Amino acid sequence: MTDASCIFCKIIAGELPAEMVYQDEQVSAFRDLHPKAPIHILIVPNMHIPSTNELTSQDVTIAGHLLAAAPKIAEIEGIFERGYRLIANTGRDGRQEVPHLHVHFLGGQPMQHPLG
Ligand code: AMP
Repeated sequence: MTDASCIFCKIIAGELPAEMVYQDEQVSAFRDLHPKAPIHILIVPNMHIPSTNELTSQDVTIAGHLLAAAPKIAEIEGIFERGYRLIANTGRDGRQEVPHLHVHFLGGQPMQHPLG
């Protein structure tokens, strides 16, 4: 259930370097290479799923694990009380660049409201 050409699959397998913040049997979370906030972490399923478009009702457990990792990461990073933002980009209009489903975890500063 991995894609040999996928950079996030390689990070999960330890074949590419990344600063891993959290990892369990379902998900991995590592620091974004080009952080857009003081804390910018990517939460990804260990299984290769290209984007939210490929999620089916079979995947509700993995989707839940992705979200449930967020409060654990917030505790690790010491921002549980302050809060954070989660973003999932999908496809061309969503500006998704890496075709392995990921949730951006952003924190460490007050965010602008995304809808203005
Ligand atoms: P997206 O535009 O939602 O697909 O975001 C992809 C994110 O992956 C970007 O924020 C990149 O900075 C990040 N990224 C790309 N390659 C790596 C890498 N090798 N390690 C960590 N983050 C990466």
